[in-house]
Amino acid sequence: MPNMSCFFAFRVVCGLLLSATAAVGQIAVVERPLSTSSNSFYVGNRPPLESSPFYKLPIGSIIPRGWLRRQLEMEREGMTGHLEQISPWLNFTNNAWTDPQGRGQNGWEEMPYWLKGYGDLGYVLHDQALTSEAEKWIKAIMASQREDGWFGPRDLLKNLSGKPDLWPHMPILNALQSYYETTGDPRVIALFSRYFKWENSLPQSAFGEGYWPKVRAGDNLESVFWLYNRTGDTWLLDLARKIHAGMARWDVDVINWHNVNVAQGFRAGTEFWMLSHDPLHLASAGRNYQKVFDTYGQFPGGGFVGDENSRPGCTDPRGGIETCGIVELMHSCQMLTKITGQPVWADRCEDIALNTFPASMTPDEKALHYITCANQIVLDRNTKSPEIQNGGTMFSYSPYEVYRCCQHNVSQGWPYYAEELWLATPDNGLCASLYAASEVTAKAGNGETVKITEDTGYPFRDTVKFTIAAARPARFPLYLRVPRWCESAEVSVNGAASGVKSRPLAFIRCEREWHDGDSVVLRLPMKLAVRRWEKNQGAASVSYGPLSFSLQIKERFASYGGHNPNWPEWEVFPDSPWNYGLVLDDKNPASSFKVVWPDSTVGPQPFTPETAPVKLTAVGRRIPNWQLDAHNVIGQLQPSPVLSDQPDEQITLIPMGAARLRVSMFPIIGAAPAARPSTVK
Ligand SMILES: [Zn+2]
Repeated sequence: MPNMSCFFAFRVVCGLLLSATAAVGQIAVVERPLSTSSNSFYVGNRPPLESSPFYKLPIGSIIPRGWLRRQLEMEREGMTGHLEQISPWLNFTNNAWTDPQGRGQNGWEEMPYWLKGYGDLGYVLHDQALTSEAEKWIKAIMASQREDGWFGPRDLLKNLSGKPDLWPHMPILNALQSYYETTGDPRVIALFSRYFKWENSLPQSAFGEGYWPKVRAGDNLESVFWLYNRTGDTWLLDLARKIHAGMARWDVDVINWHNVNVAQGFRAGTEFWMLSHDPLHLASAGRNYQKVFDTYGQFPGGGFVGDENSRPGCTDPRGGIETCGIVELMHSCQMLTKITGQPVWADRCEDIALNTFPASMTPDEKALHYITCANQIVLDRNTKSPEIQNGGTMFSYSPYEVYRCCQHNVSQGWPYYAEELWLATPDNGLCASLYAASEVTAKAGNGETVKITEDTGYPFRDTVKFTIAAARPARFPLYLRVPRWCESAEVSVNGAASGVKSRPLAFIRCEREWHDGDSVVLRLPMKLAVRRWEKNQGAASVSYGPLSFSLQIKERFASYGGHNPNWPEWEVFPDSPWNYGLVLDDKNPASSFKVVWPDSTVGPQPFTPETAPVKLTAVGRRIPNWQLDAHNVIGQLQPSPVLSDQPDEQITLIPMGAARLRVSMFPIIGAAPAARPSTVK
């Protein structure tokens, strides 16, 4: 069982691979942040928990700019910001969460899901109206606490055959944590302490009750550690052990195949590692992720097939992931970045956030759908079952309760992402973890307040410029994540090249005395890469840096429903051919694509076919037998190479996130005798 000092010694030995010149400061490539101590300014793990490799900054420290800010503004102008108008679960006056006695209606997960993202949206945007509205709900919820610590809906106390249902409190605790991180309101700490004392009074068996609470108790664990790190009350560690002992055994295996449960639950063992120090617990999240993706994630975009569950035999990219699964997976990957310090988790977060999440919503964020797939050609309102596990509407876009969980839970996606663009490090530095235009104001070095402005068109451009503002010189390390697709990043400081030789999935650590106006330019050279997916019929996908690409298809939006003209529902139909295979250069497949930048700048909403800031051109041939099936679901992939007697055509590809209609997994066009004709399937 490794102790902390061994763990950090390992980091240091692996870390100091390179140093550089005095002009640029000390530059090294490291696996994780270096540490022999803990950050002096921000809350991380207290002993005996594993030391934190990263620290979350207080919400509001990071001001997102550029396209990410626009996504948040659209969320405010769109469904999340106005969900109280259209969701039956968000009626303040009769809600069991806001009633002082916990009586009323709708006392389950929906309101907590929404408030968790809605509040954070207000805090991230520094929006007074949203913040005040969130506070109204939060104060009412806090006022419902009983003497024994229980708060919120009283019916939940006997929801599970007379026993308490602990699940809906997990997302509401998240909402309260963010409220505390923003306001410092001490009543939150008091409420948490009383609630967890109540939980701790439950018998061990209570933590294995019910389906959702048992499977998702990793969320409960996270909130217990959050409070422990603020109070140091050691009985909370006893509670954490009870929760872990009772909950589903994600530390042993993938024990449930519901997509949202996977997206939330797979990390639970690695969370508990912070207390157990058991290397098997540390490894469990990565092992679970690999197990799921080795079978169900064999296509680009960072998602997996789980519609509603991952089902044996259903691995074709015409299946997809629920919007709740997307945002929970993003959140889990962010948590694992902070827990393990491993850059692969930030990479995985970015993959699904940039390639899959945007297409789960309409471009104005006023509606969403349940299932987003890598290959998805008609988004009509009719059933897709049994190709998709659930019957009924799954693909069309709607703001209404037909997608009851996602409608509320989608709110956390972009706010949580924006909150962790930057992280603090144990050596009193700052790390650019997820790249996006932003400003961060934080304490670093010896306690100086510094502001770093990040200018970039990432992920559509390869250069990120950081400008430091500091009232007085400050010495601290600046960490820059090197993504897995980037073979060698380039760093210059105040115009002087560092000569650093980086490697994928590492951090470049730049330490020097920073002066007001200093600048760092990071270039992450992007390359075209073609990937063949042997487990999905040898189909191909293409990426350029962090972005995976889909065929550009003319999308025709058609509204339906019409019960509220301000909130239409949409079907989307293809108005151009889509059934193309790729004609690739055998020896150098990537040379078959050309990168095109339609404009010199990246606009505020880059996730549409018309505004995509980077496109690819290629040659394709139509495959006449590749058609929609009887439910308007795209036909399954057939083994590549495929014969086609159709003419070569130039085709255009756009980032997956910009494509609501998608072909991201392409058959390869070949010649006889290796290639076979396509059959109808
Ligand atoms: Zn959902």
